[in-house]
Amino acid sequence: MKADVCIIGGGPSGLLLSQLLQLQGIDTIVLEKYSREHVLGRIRAGVLEHGFAELMREAKCGERMDREGENHKGFYIAHDNALDSGGMDHVDLFKYSGGSTVLVYGQTELTRDLYEARDRLGGKVVHNAEDVTPRDLDTDKPYVSYRDGDKVIRVDCQYVIGADGFHGVSRRSIPKDVLREYERVYPFGWLGVLSRTKPVSPELIYCKHERGFALCSLRSQVLSRYYIQVPLEDTTEDWSDDAFWAELKRRVPQAIADGLITGSSIEKSIAPLRSFVAEPMRYGRLFLAGDAAHIVPPTGARGLNSAASDIYYLYHALIDRYKKADDTGLDAYSARALARVWKAQRFSWWMTTLLHRFPNNIPYDDKLQQTELAYLLSSEAAMRSLAENYVGLPF
Ligand SMILES: Cc1cc2nc3c(=O)[nH]c(=O)nc-3n(C[C@H](O)[C@H](O)[C@H](O)COP(=O)(O)OP(=O)(O)OC[C@H]3O[C@@H](n4cnc5c(N)ncnc54)[C@H](O)[C@@H]3O)c2cc1C
Repeated sequence: MKADVCIIGGGPSGLLLSQLLQLQGIDTIVLEKYSREHVLGRIRAGVLEHGFAELMREAKCGERMDREGENHKGFYIAHDNALDSGGMDHVDLFKYSGGSTVLVYGQTELTRDLYEARDRLGGKVVHNAEDVTPRDLDTDKPYVSYRDGDKVIRVDCQYVIGADGFHGVSRRSIPKDVLREYERVYPFGWLGVLSRTKPVSPELIYCKHERGFALCSLRSQVLSRYYIQVPLEDTTEDWSDDAFWAELKRRVPQAIADGLITGSSIEKSIAPLRSFVAEPMRYGRLFLAGDAAHIVPPTGARGLNSAASDIYYLYHALIDRYKKADDTGLDAYSARALARVWKAQRFSWWMTTLLHRFPNNIPYDDKLQQTELAYLLSSEAAMRSLAENYVGLPF
């Protein structure tokens, strides 16, 4: 098989890039390890930057997102010192970002839209591709092999995109003496529950509580997503639905607890929190994108949005290569992508540190954390910084 660009991973990064490139006449093939049902079964991101939404429109995949997604102009922070304001303060993203918003639309739906768009264009997406292996990356004739049952299939290409997530094979194909990895593992995870219930609030509520962080989020007006901070050792078996709802109610303001509609979980999972960056994001003809190169804790809703900026840079760099024989964008890709990735890392680390309970904190750390929040809520400059980062820095 042959393609201009072979993309490893059929998650949102890989599918979006292949769709954008095909619309420009650049031939791609996507190799995905699992079935489509498996990929669509993952419940993950829900908050999109306007830059991501623009890319979806450019990829001709934005119609349902624009119809069903919800524009959010702000969110709430609940904390112990907000008793005067019903236990929570409002963050006016629209005001402090100078008129920007975020779009609430689930990653599952977005991925479904991308798959349907690939089908409409007759895009090549191979599912259940086993033992995907990128080869000869440091030559100008790279290829990727994979196994289909007993058959080993070879895809000859000019460029390989590693969009296969944190556990994928692409990053591991970069020699150890070239790759540098930066990592912080947080001493807790998020237990998330998806329920077919009306969300307790039209906007997200981030809760800082002495028992641990909680988040009231949503995917639509009939689908709620709630999270609580849990110790790393906990498993989903430790948390019945009843235990989850009881703990969530303890961590949110009383009026929110009273209004919370509970129901059976339709998905329940624990995600450990991690910050991670691999540098460089290019090795020869291999370019890493999205979670394959960087991970953030979900607190600042940056993960999928950081993947989108990688795709934006790669998309434009590959157009320049194929339409103008200009490699400047490809050569600059790693440095440009990493500059924005590190800003998303900083913001996600900051928001995680601000709102979670850290088991090993000394009283001094707790005081600083309270002061950081008090400063944020009393300073227009700090609010502008939060809003600018949350709605998404420019690509
Ligand atoms: C609980 C949770 C909440 C989150 N909330 C947000 C949020 O609100 N906002 C936000 O922006 N981000 C959020 N994120 C992060 C976001 O989900 C990820 O950043 C996003 O999925 C990255 O997309 P990706 O395509 O780069 O990687 P992935 O979605 O991981 O896709 C990679 C694909 O590659 C495939 N693959 C893996 N290995 C191989 C292989 N060897 N060969 C071939 N294919 C392979 C995988 O099956 C997968 O389909 C959240 C994440 C979690 C876990």
